[in-house]
Amino acid sequence: MLGKTEIIKKAMEIGFCDIGFTGIEPFTSQLQILQERSDLYHWTLEKGMDLQKGADPTTAMPEAKTLIVVLDNYYQSAFPSSMVGKFGRCYLDDDRVTRDGLAIRIKQLRSYLRENGIQSTVPAFLPHRLAAARAGLGGFGKNCLFYAGRAVRQSSWVLPVAILIDHEFTADPPSVEVNCPKWCRNACISACPTGALISPNKIDPRRCISYLSYYGEGLTPLELREPMGMWVYGCDRCQNVCPRNEPWLAQELPENNKVNAKASSFDLIQLLHMDREYFKRYIKPHMFYMSSHDLWRWKMNVARVMGNSHDRNYAGNLILAYRENDDERVRAMIAWALGQLGGAEALLALQDFAHDADGLLKDEIDLALTKFIA
Ligand code: SF4
Ligand code: SF4
Repeated sequence: MLGKTEIIKKAMEIGFCDIGFTGIEPFTSQLQILQERSDLYHWTLEKGMDLQKGADPTTAMPEAKTLIVVLDNYYQSAFPSSMVGKFGRCYLDDDRVTRDGLAIRIKQLRSYLRENGIQSTVPAFLPHRLAAARAGLGGFGKNCLFYAGRAVRQSSWVLPVAILIDHEFTADPPSVEVNCPKWCRNACISACPTGALISPNKIDPRRCISYLSYYGEGLTPLELREPMGMWVYGCDRCQNVCPRNEPWLAQELPENNKVNAKASSFDLIQLLHMDREYFKRYIKPHMFYMSSHDLWRWKMNVARVMGNSHDRNYAGNLILAYRENDDERVRAMIAWALGQLGGAEALLALQDFAHDADGLLKDEIDLALTKFIA
């Protein structure tokens, strides 16, 4: 029978940066938060995430006796500069479809356990971050993110993975606490551009750019377009400004050649003009929260980013994309983006578009045209 020491050794050999053990008691604090903040989380059920059920580990494996939590550092190498600041780092090498990275490591660890008589499962909706803290692997920041306690220079660039097993091991001392230094004056809360961080340790996920970029309903409201800035999919801002992440960010990291190889597929101009075939081939395997029916949202996000870039070189492609698309939400955002960019080319196009537009689109074009009034 395996001991904890052997499992820890194997996990580190495989490439995880830390590992801890905890019991299978329900995560009552998670249940309490879900109940108290039901208005902020009701959408999770609509998206097929049963977080209430996930808070009781035994629903995923009735015979479970221990939760093993491993930490994966998803930021071990430098990502291409063309993607950083537009796509959240945790999505740049996300292998949940391709199964060619973290999935292999999890499989290796589970195979090792199985070969030694231990059955396991990886429940999808268990609170993995809370499980990691309960397993003594670190604590939280006021930005609601998990921070490693020992690994990765105590930064937040980790993905905790909780694995339920049917054997009993002693639990490690928990570390469920907020470890922010007193001298940090809530930099994350001040920096959150959409006000998603309501107060320390309280987030409205529906206002988070990550949520808005892949689940946002309809045309992005006017007041959020500039704050959402250059983010196409996801957001790292509250991690980038956090002093607890500075030691990791200050390093010179080797280039991530795997992500470099796909960077050109995520070029903004390619995304603005992509069709379903392109999406399925180059984008969906890596960023899959939106389906091929949501291409309008991808294009709307890209048009917003181009508008926020203040780079008039994008005007021609935005004008072309307006003509390629009949989706009102995409066209409306393109009109807004052209208004942000300004210049003679954008003005002429908007005046032309105004002839055939009505309703919401006409309102957006008229609004964009007001930007040209000196
Ligand atoms: S990820 Fe971005 S939008 Fe979301 S809470 Fe952090 S700073 Fe705010
Ligand atoms: S920015 Fe400051 S308050 Fe926010 S998580 Fe980091 S240390 Fe904590």
